[in-house]
Amino acid sequence: MARYTDAVCKLCRREGVKLFLKGDRCFTPKCGVERRPYPPGLQSTRRRKVSEYSLQLREKQKARRVYGVLERQFRRHFTEAERRIGQTGENLLRILETRLDNVVFRLGFADSRAQARQFVAHGHFDLNGHKTDIPSAIVTPGDVVTVRVASRSSDHFKTAVEQIGRKTIPNWLLVDAPAFSGRIVSIPERSDIDTSLQEQLIVEFYSR
Ligand code: SF4
Repeated sequence: MARYTDAVCKLCRREGVKLFLKGDRCFTPKCGVERRPYPPGLQSTRRRKVSEYSLQLREKQKARRVYGVLERQFRRHFTEAERRIGQTGENLLRILETRLDNVVFRLGFADSRAQARQFVAHGHFDLNGHKTDIPSAIVTPGDVVTVRVASRSSDHFKTAVEQIGRKTIPNWLLVDAPAFSGRIVSIPERSDIDTSLQEQLIVEFYSR
């Protein structure tokens, strides 16, 4: 399973915004964007004109980085979004949101999507009662995501369950902390997806 292994704060600094890739650290003064609010690498004082293509590319890269998806998989999600009825950009965000790793993160069982991806890949979750270790698996309404019984005694999951009440769970998900599980109530509407991503720019990027 291919994944990005370089320093993730560089990704935020490259995009010039906080992408919240490191859990709690992102809310502290240690945040890379706050300490070094300029792109990584050599600094240039020259002002560059930002082209339309560049805006579209950056938005696509930002989305990939927020959801931790490599290019080939992201392109696959886009193709699926085009195939579905409705607006392609919104479909794309819905697909990204309903990935199993994102759902684990949104339910509060992980501090970041990267951590959620690792937990899923390491087999800590069941989907509808069956062990599932595919972070890109897409969930649908009625599906139930559960921390596996053998993993519930780990300090991480015990703490996560204790703290779930303090987290904001999106209204398309329903968490049952004592049962270490969460249910997908509905497919998220665009208004349910808490992101500043401009999905239309991503559609324009792939439509060139
Ligand atoms: Fe991005 Fe979080 Fe690193 Fe800040 S701490 S630069 S928000 S990953």
